[in-house]
Amino acid sequence: MVIVMNEQATEDQVEKVIAALTQKGYDAHRSTGTTRTVIGVVGASKSPLDPREFEIMPGVHEVVKITEPYKLAGRIFKPEDTIINIGDIAIGGRAIVLMAGPCAVESEKQLDIIAASVSRYGARLLRGGAFKPRTSPYAFQGLGEEGLKHLRKVGDRYGMAVITEVMDTSQIELVARYADILQVGARNMQNFTLLKDLGRIRKPVMLKRGLSATIQEWMLSAEYIMAGGNHDVMFCERGIRTFENFTRNTMDISAIPIIKKISHLPIIADPSHGTGLRDKVIPMARAAVAAGADGIMVEVHHEPEVALSDGPQSLYPEQFAEMMAQLRIIAPAIGRTV
Ligand code: PEP
Ligand code: MN
Repeated sequence: MVIVMNEQATEDQVEKVIAALTQKGYDAHRSTGTTRTVIGVVGASKSPLDPREFEIMPGVHEVVKITEPYKLAGRIFKPEDTIINIGDIAIGGRAIVLMAGPCAVESEKQLDIIAASVSRYGARLLRGGAFKPRTSPYAFQGLGEEGLKHLRKVGDRYGMAVITEVMDTSQIELVARYADILQVGARNMQNFTLLKDLGRIRKPVMLKRGLSATIQEWMLSAEYIMAGGNHDVMFCERGIRTFENFTRNTMDISAIPIIKKISHLPIIADPSHGTGLRDKVIPMARAAVAAGADGIMVEVHHEPEVALSDGPQSLYPEQFAEMMAQLRIIAPAIGRTV
């Protein structure tokens, strides 16, 4: 259920509605928009809710029953787009945000070379895994805390914000100490313990789409984080598993306009994991921008032939520059900038 307040509703009237919900054992999530306040009702309680009790309360415009299983992540709860601010970077606004860096942090020097070039060409966020979810236990697992330190240091050196993956609940505190955005990897999209714990922190979370997740399952995973009180969540489409094997995954471009329609949260596109092949990354980045993505995340490596992970899908720095030049032409066609 969502309670929509009148445009003229007073603070006191909003608080009375929230108090009535709390008293009945429900969680009230408030969204204060430019014109009106909306209160999302979540949680299970023994006392059933009668919408009429709220409809007659002063300041209430209407009570909307939500039939979708997600509430806080949906547009009914919050009609305006959510903008997530990290310093002077706004994710979900008119400007499309670029996140770039290696798949895995291999050394400070490697990260420095890559960050120097991608920041020069316009990337605002530095990506790189310190804890790597590798398919094989014998593959490079990441540098751990040392990698996080490199990310922070190099990010600061080039004025970039930092995004990196958190694989487990036990790593949240450590990763949050160094990163500006915590990434939930595709393999962890339904790790509900991790999602609940990320709901309790106050740092933005980027939720990658699970390998075979439907959009509804993905929305419900965002709901898990938001239900804990952390509303700074963004999605990331990174391709799903299909029967097609020309590409590593099938990049679901249609997920972008679908998410933009049903949710107020930003969506980022990752054509590197979405295709797995360097020569497909730029075309799919172009498509993602045209489809309405709020950001693009790509893997970039100066020596992809010797990269410790995902070399075949990593762009050369010059390709990143070429991609940026193309995106700068496409974005204005849909009223955006890069
Ligand atoms: C990554 O971005 O480093 C990564 C491992 O991606 P995914 O979880 O989408 O496979
Ligand atoms: Mn990778």
